[in-house]
Amino acid sequence: MYDRFNRRINYLRVSVTDRCNLRCTYCMPAEGVKLMEHKDILSFEEIVEMIHVAVSVGITKVRITGGEPLVRKGIVSLIEKIAVIEGIEDFGLTTNGILLPVFAADLARAGLHRINVSLDTLDAEKFRSITRGGDIAHVFAGIEAAKAAGLSPVKINCVVRNSSDEPDAQAVREFCLKNDLEARFIHEMSLADGRFTIVENGHGGDCVNCNRLRITANGMIRPCLFNDVQFNARVLGIRAAIEQAVGHKPERGSVNVKDCFHNIGG
Ligand code: SF4
Repeated sequence: MYDRFNRRINYLRVSVTDRCNLRCTYCMPAEGVKLMEHKDILSFEEIVEMIHVAVSVGITKVRITGGEPLVRKGIVSLIEKIAVIEGIEDFGLTTNGILLPVFAADLARAGLHRINVSLDTLDAEKFRSITRGGDIAHVFAGIEAAKAAGLSPVKINCVVRNSSDEPDAQAVREFCLKNDLEARFIHEMSLADGRFTIVENGHGGDCVNCNRLRITANGMIRPCLFNDVQFNARVLGIRAAIEQAVGHKPERGSVNVKDCFHNIGG
């Protein structure tokens, strides 16, 4: 499927929860966030159905996001149900890595192809401060478990303040080179201010070539991260909501005052 700007839309990012086991300073405010009610969060059946329909109209690449997707109860069986959908050529998941040592092997067995792990520093104290309490040892163990399980490639999402020349980013780059990992550098963004740049070594933020749609954990189809437009798949029907989203996809991102990163999956 193509949008009004002749961009081929074949990538779907699916947020399966707005919950997370970390509280990263650039994602969640210190005072916490209002979480969706459990009854509003998509069931596994709804998620699988939405992806089925999306694939039938042209989606070939699917990424599972959150919040933190690995905190969703039964996540491995959901991955299993999605992995058997014919037409998915590229199936990935983005995680903060804390639960990855536990789940990596099962995710690979369930049919996941590849994984992105968030890591902004190699310094344990800085990590604890950025994530408001996270233990970096789990992330390192998770990366090793993902490689051992055959998830490939394993990419590292490193958030930078202004530039990938910052010391922490340089250290993450070195770490990736030494450990056969692919580093991507994501400049801090602000939804409300409409501040974003193109991901270094990635495609996010590249509006001219944007190929993506998003599904939020409560079933909204969103044509753009930096825009407030959304279509309720539960009300409109999945196919109609996807068509509306593609039909209303903006030429480029502007601002999004409705969401936070934790409920739209970045
Ligand atoms: S800001 Fe919107 S149009 Fe631009 S790359 Fe992101 S999702 Fe695509």
